[in-house]
Order: sequence, then structure tokens, then C-alpha cells
Amino acid sequence: MKTQILPALPGHPHIAYVDTSLHIEQVNASAIAETFGTPTYVYSRTAIEQAARQYMDAAARSPVKVALRYAVKANSTLAVLQVLARQGWGFDIVSGGELQRVLAAGGEAGKVVFSGVGKTAAEMRLALDVGVECFNLESPNELAVLNRVAQQAGKVAQVALRVNPDVDAGTHPYISTGLKSNKFGIAQEQAVALAMQTALLPHVRLVGIASHIGSQITSVEPYLDALDKVLDLVEAMERKGAQIEHIDLGGGLGIRYSHETPPTPQDWLAPLLARIAARGFGHRTVMVEPGRSIVGNAGALLTRTLYLKSTPAKHFAVVDAGMNDLIRPALYEAEQVVAPAEVRTGLALHYDIVGPVCESADWLARDRALVLEEGDLLAVLSSGAYGMVMASNYNSRGRPAEVLVDGASTHLIRPRETVEQLYASERLLP
Ligand SMILES: *Cc1c(COP(=O)(O)O)cnc(C)c1O
Repeated sequence: MKTQILPALPGHPHIAYVDTSLHIEQVNASAIAETFGTPTYVYSRTAIEQAARQYMDAAARSPVKVALRYAVKANSTLAVLQVLARQGWGFDIVSGGELQRVLAAGGEAGKVVFSGVGKTAAEMRLALDVGVECFNLESPNELAVLNRVAQQAGKVAQVALRVNPDVDAGTHPYISTGLKSNKFGIAQEQAVALAMQTALLPHVRLVGIASHIGSQITSVEPYLDALDKVLDLVEAMERKGAQIEHIDLGGGLGIRYSHETPPTPQDWLAPLLARIAARGFGHRTVMVEPGRSIVGNAGALLTRTLYLKSTPAKHFAVVDAGMNDLIRPALYEAEQVVAPAEVRTGLALHYDIVGPVCESADWLARDRALVLEEGDLLAVLSSGAYGMVMASNYNSRGRPAEVLVDGASTHLIRPRETVEQLYASERLLP
């Protein structure tokens, strides 16, 4: 018998072929699709924990104190947050909704950093009432609003200034945040003056400095560039009497989608911590806010082939997941590996994998060599981050189910959304 060469899935330690069947941990992908239908997001608990463990190990080995804050926006499903809360992680949030999710999942408010460029007064009040550890502020006017809200609440808000270090992270323009043309952060020229202003306000206390330069960053250099600028600002602020207790490096470490070779969390963190120590800031707490690198490669989107369609120009595989379920390809032209759940032998054709949504941007992958028959199950890998969180109901499609695999067990952590749920709160005219 001919041995079959199975697709290698580098970067996906808990998603692999056993014989010719794709497995998530010990569970057959086809069995998950049979039980829960498609499209369905499936996550490996072990993969999430292992990615988190890499950061925890790097932190444990470091003489510098490191505070780990998972960026909720990458994947905010309660069971996913719960897995990380149980490992002792804190959270980085960008809305009051994310804060409520963290609390519902068992996260500690005292380990929550509130980021985001447009926090409302109501969100600030909620965060103050539950006692988040820090607000990462992005503008002078936001500082004034927070001071007022904290006064009304009878509290003193701990704040960090998120500065914009003006470095090119070398990533997609839509996920670059650290250039001076981006909306994020406080310009370096304004940061010291703003730090001084916090000292005059009775209901805020400056405790930190933060930067976050973008996402899916695959080298350490832009971080080192940003860090140097941030540390220059810390020095300037402290010369004027401020005391900066923590330095927040943000998140953004990339993952391997197809051919990228990002550093491991250890290889990312070690040079940054070394630079912090070398410049004399080793006694400060360092915060990190990874999102994608914790959950990205722990998840896959299972989707079934509805139709194979060939035109004079192309071969299409029309599948039952669309851009409403996974928008990364349409939004960022993201390339994710598409793996068949059962490997077939035969003649491979080059397919564009497209969804049922009425948009030409509705594609999941382009020009993939696959041996396919209608009804075949496919797994779009690396879908654990910025997948379900960005899903919408466009075309009145309920969002996918989510399943967490833990060893040989499967847990339905979010049932598929029904159409009745979509319009349950709508009103007809009298
Ligand atoms: C999005 C975001 C993160 C996480 O980014 P990843 O690329 O998912 O690691 C961290 N911090 C802030 C402020 C963010 O906006």
C-alpha cells in the first residue's frame, strides 16, 4: 500500500492527523461536526493552556516581575476566559461588555487593565465600581472625564498613559497601532505634560506607562524600538517627580498562520526584559497583554463543502461558513491553512474556498490544492483569535457553535445561534 503524505500542520501542536483523520486533541473533527453541525468553532484547551504556560514560564524565569493580562478581544467566550482565569491570568479589556464577561467567567477585577481609545463615562463608572487595577488612558480629555467620574464615585482611579511610540511594526495597516498617524495613544511630545497634569487631579493616580504597537508582529525589533522610546519617557516623567510603577508592553505577538516564523513568547519576552533591566528599570512590574498568541492556533473553524463549482476561470468550493463567521480573510486578506478533515487520495484541484454570503469579499481561502468531494468537511486552522468575536449576523445567519476539546472530552461552550434568537428583540410596527 502506498503511504500517504499527510499535510503537516506546523504551529498547531494539538491539531493533527491520526491516520487520515484530523483530530483536535483526541477527538476526531468529523465526529465534532456530526454531533454539533457546521460551521463550528473548535478549540483545544491544552493548546490554550500551553500557549499561556509559555508566557508563565518566561515570567517565572525572569528576575523582573511580570503581570500577565490576556487581551479579551481576541476571544471572549466565557469558557475560554475561564480557562485563563483558572491559570491565574488577569485580563486586558476594551469595553464594559468585556469587563462583564471577565467577571462572569470568574476573572478578578483587581487584575483587569482597561484599554481602548473611546471609553464612555458609564464604562468608567462600572470599572471603578468593581475595582479594576488600571485605566490605560489615550488622551487629555479622557483623563479629565475619568477624574470627574472617579470623583462622583468617591474613588481614585489608577491610570497608565498609553503612549504612541511611532514605530512601524511591519504588520498589516489595519492592525498597526503604533504609528503617529494611527488614532491610538498619546503623542510622545505630549506624554510628559500629561503625566504632570495627572498629578494635579485628585481622583487619578499615575502608576504606569503603556504602549501597544499592533498585532501579528513577527519580530522583536519593533518592540525594542518602542520600548526604548517608552523608557525615555519614563525617565523624563520621573525627572519631573512622577513615579512609574509598571511598564505595559501591550500584546501583538504574531502566530504562524502559514509561513510566518514569529518568536516564541519566551524569545519575545526575554530581550525586552533584559533591556528593561539593563536600563535600570528592573525593579518595576512589566505587564504584557497577549491575545492572538494565546488562542489563535488553539482554534479551527469546521465547515462543510456544499457545492463544487467550476467556471472557465476557476474552481470554487462553496462551503457553509462565510465572512460573517470568519472575517479575517475578507478584512485583512489573511491566509489561513485549510485542512481536510479526512484526507482523500486523488487529483488535487486548486480551489477558492468561498462562503454563501452575497459579497465577493466572502472568501475564506484562495487557490488551495485539495482533493474534494461535495459534503467534505474542512477545518480552517488558526481561527481561535479574532474569529468568533468578529462574527456577525449578516445575511441573517446565526453565529456558529463553539466547542472546547479537553483530551478526549468535548464541551459545547456556546450553542449555535438560532434565527429566532436573531429577531427575538425586534418589534413589528403596530
Ligand atoms: C488588541 C490588543 C492587544 C492584543 O493584541 P494581540 O495581537 O491579540 O496580542 C493587547 N493590548 C491592546 C491595548 C490591544 O488593543
